[in-house]
Amino acid sequence: MTSYQLSTKILAICLISLPLFVAFRLSLPFSSFSNQTLSLADARVLDKVSRNDSSLAQGSEDGYSQSSSVSEDKFLGGLLPPGFNEGSCVSRYQSWLYHKKPSPHKPSPYLLSRLRAYEDLHKRCGPYTKSYNKTIKQLRSRNIVSSAESSECKYVVWVSFSGLGNRILTVASAFLYAILTNRVLLIDPGKDMPDLFCEPFPETSWLLPTNFPLKRRFDKFNQKTPNSYGNMLKRNKLNASSELFPSYLYLHLVHDYDDHDRLIFCDQHQTPMNRVPWLIMKSDNYFVPSLFLSPSFDQELSRLFPDKATVFHHLSRYLFHPSNQVWGLITRYYWTYLAKADETIGIQIRVFESSSGPYQHVMDQILACTLKQNLLPEVDQQESSADPSVKPKSKAILMTSLSSGYFENLRNMYWEHPTVTGDLIGIYQPSHEEYQQTEKQSHDRKAWAEMYLLSLTDVLITSAWSTFGYVAQGLGGLKPLILFKPENRTVPDPPCGRVISMEPCFHAPPNYDCKAKTGADPGNLVPHVRHCEDMSWGLKLVDRHDDI
Ligand code: GDP
Repeated sequence: MTSYQLSTKILAICLISLPLFVAFRLSLPFSSFSNQTLSLADARVLDKVSRNDSSLAQGSEDGYSQSSSVSEDKFLGGLLPPGFNEGSCVSRYQSWLYHKKPSPHKPSPYLLSRLRAYEDLHKRCGPYTKSYNKTIKQLRSRNIVSSAESSECKYVVWVSFSGLGNRILTVASAFLYAILTNRVLLIDPGKDMPDLFCEPFPETSWLLPTNFPLKRRFDKFNQKTPNSYGNMLKRNKLNASSELFPSYLYLHLVHDYDDHDRLIFCDQHQTPMNRVPWLIMKSDNYFVPSLFLSPSFDQELSRLFPDKATVFHHLSRYLFHPSNQVWGLITRYYWTYLAKADETIGIQIRVFESSSGPYQHVMDQILACTLKQNLLPEVDQQESSADPSVKPKSKAILMTSLSSGYFENLRNMYWEHPTVTGDLIGIYQPSHEEYQQTEKQSHDRKAWAEMYLLSLTDVLITSAWSTFGYVAQGLGGLKPLILFKPENRTVPDPPCGRVISMEPCFHAPPNYDCKAKTGADPGNLVPHVRHCEDMSWGLKLVDRHDDI
């Protein structure tokens, strides 16, 4: 496109979009760069906005009857149900505007139909419905007479636990488990879940009511809890032929779980659990890969996800919509620092040491990876002057880290020296919180905004073992380069490598073959469950076409 054609297009887009500027002003601060030249990225968003606007002008209130490609994009290929009030959660129907292209990964028609069926179930069984109130009463009795069919509504209660990346992965895992077992997912609000996320299901709530009878015990649930599935098994308290079942079971799926707790991933243990109306789950692991090893879920999972390595990509875009406050953090940052660059690169630095650093070996590793992979240009120590006839390419590097040291180093390097390619490198880091402050509202808002911003970059580099990075890659549908975990504070060789799939890694999978009832390597049981690139004992989903 010539610059004349481009400016004509931008002018036309601006004229069409003018009325929408007002409506979108809350989340897109156009006014902040109104006196700057519009870039290609701005034109892309404006183009999308204008398509959205002209179809809105045709009289569609919820936007569902818009032109097919716009509604395809806006509803993320049918993942999102229409009809939500747009202002209460601006991100839900606007996130698509921030992606260069719609995701190439389309949800299966079967997944869409199961999501719609789930939404109906949640509406029928959600907080304070007749069925919910009835099932709550059962909690008052220790044991209940239960057959597989006795409760109309059964629940998985997700307990808020661990860092935000872990929480996002475990909510997604619990949701998939709920779908597979026809249960309703209710989430413990913890200190800040409602502040971070919008409601995902229409006309109901996924938040566990604050007067839930067991709520005050959540913090104390641990590996020793007598009502945990593992401990009930040990004490022989669960007999599949018995008519009496506990009204609730605690599922301890935290990294310190033992061999008995882990049996919930075995088929034969699903039957007794099916009878129990309330499953209270605490986890810090993305346990989805183990569900794929269970023959009773296998067929359903293949229909839901014909492309197996898209599970978290689809579920995360369906479930996690930043609240308006967090969306403000994301969009203001995006427009101010990222939108105008020709290319954006996300670099997520997570250091599992006593302090967040900066450490010299981590800085060396970042440089070794980015320079070797030609993501960042070398600097020109000779300071030769750039050719003025060549328009430099601009790259915006979004860094996230608890420490500001890596950012300062890289920023100084590209300020103090020109690049050999002439490219202009802008380095940006939204926050440096110094240490993890889980469940502190302003801290978690920033963490969520940064994961989301990373997911919007063109190229992503993440850190080994970090669920923060897994969330960004899954949301964005990106296969990042992963910085391998350094040992003895030395740069690993190679410093980084491309992941085989965009799925998160399950860090603590059971090493057990349920059928053979013996220990086994779970990475060798089926072709689509493999060990992770960053953790040799971890498990992740891959697709047949992934380069294994
Ligand atoms: P993981 O520990 O890397 O697997 O990720 P989690 O998200 O579960 O826990 C780490 C927590 O530390 C985050 O949720 C944040 O609270 C904080 N944190 C770690 N790295 C960053 C960062 O780059 N930016 C911000 N804002 N917070 C971070």
